[in-house]
Amino acid sequence: MKKIYLDYSAATPMRPEVYEAMRPFFSDKFYNPSAIYLLAKDVRDQLEAARRSVAGLLGARPAEIIFTAGATEANNLAVQGIGRQFPDGEMLVSSIEHESVAAPAGLFGARQIPVDSHGVIILNKLSNLINNKTVLVSVIMASNELGTIQPLADIAKIISDVRRQRQNKGNKLPIYLHSDAAQAGNYFDLHTSRLGVDLLSLNGGKIYGPKQSGALYVKAGVKLQPLIVGGGQEFGLRAGTENVAAIIGLAKALELAQARRQEESQRLAGLRKTFEKRLTGKFENVIVNGGKRRAPHISSLTFPGQDNERLLMQLDERGIMCAAGSACSASSQEPSAVLQAIGLSKELAQSTLRFSFGAATSPADIDAVVSALEAILINR
Ligand code: PLP
Repeated sequence: MKKIYLDYSAATPMRPEVYEAMRPFFSDKFYNPSAIYLLAKDVRDQLEAARRSVAGLLGARPAEIIFTAGATEANNLAVQGIGRQFPDGEMLVSSIEHESVAAPAGLFGARQIPVDSHGVIILNKLSNLINNKTVLVSVIMASNELGTIQPLADIAKIISDVRRQRQNKGNKLPIYLHSDAAQAGNYFDLHTSRLGVDLLSLNGGKIYGPKQSGALYVKAGVKLQPLIVGGGQEFGLRAGTENVAAIIGLAKALELAQARRQEESQRLAGLRKTFEKRLTGKFENVIVNGGKRRAPHISSLTFPGQDNERLLMQLDERGIMCAAGSACSASSQEPSAVLQAIGLSKELAQSTLRFSFGAATSPADIDAVVSALEAILINR
């Protein structure tokens, strides 16, 4: 039976070029980049070249890139790092954040910014929630469950207005914008000043690079506390001997992803349009979640009256792999908080599947999934 993988939001296969770029760093180039002999210096040079490459793609300076073990760590460094630096400050996070932002933000008593029924931040609610103590606003760039894209530029504008008002009033507390871009690297411009962000989290495992690779962009001047202290690596923000292979892999994966993003976005948006049109044509009660402005690779569909776990297993029996809600968190019995935040009842949230497309997804795969769903839902 042909396997059809439609869970690219959970994990992507590593590109061969990425694997090849990483390989020497497991063997010949194993040296500690902090050692002082020539062969170790060569490893340091390549690590720093990777940092320059990531920085270049983000329109950032190399010293603004902190390599981490994945997006969970990058998000924790951003949220907890700011929370510890500014103990009297307050945080606001969107109600559709990934757990790796929501959980650390919860440690600091963060309040939630509501979203509309498509999962888009309600801007005037955000403005009303900001007060004199707000130090961090964190909004996911593209939702891992819905695909919804946030109006980051508008959010950045609200924040820069607050910054100006504070300057006029002599309030010295900074206010920063963080965005989790773990689902965005394959499809969107990540230029940090165009986005208007102060902190941006990236992930290698979603862009055809290695798992447990990632980075946090920290704009020059943003002060935050490290979570891991020790040997002072990564500008004192993330101690420990650098995972050079993962860093090289992340840089290569990001370079390739950004080079192909426009073409791949168009291709996947076309496939998804066909997929959703055919399904909504066949099953008139199917709900497409997330609105119009969505990352091109995610289709969140609610099948009222159906149990998503059961559907998932029935699809799996037919060789089709997708997700119920988010696979990024350890399996939980609670229906998705993100789906509930957009107003779905628990029942509807438990009737929702996420299909996510990627490099190997073809029109034939779309046909096969539509037929499988027809077989399961109509001819059972
Ligand atoms: N943020 C988002 C939006 C994600 O989709 C994921 C997925 O796992 C993460 C963070 C966590 O990334 P990682 O598994 O690299 O820690």
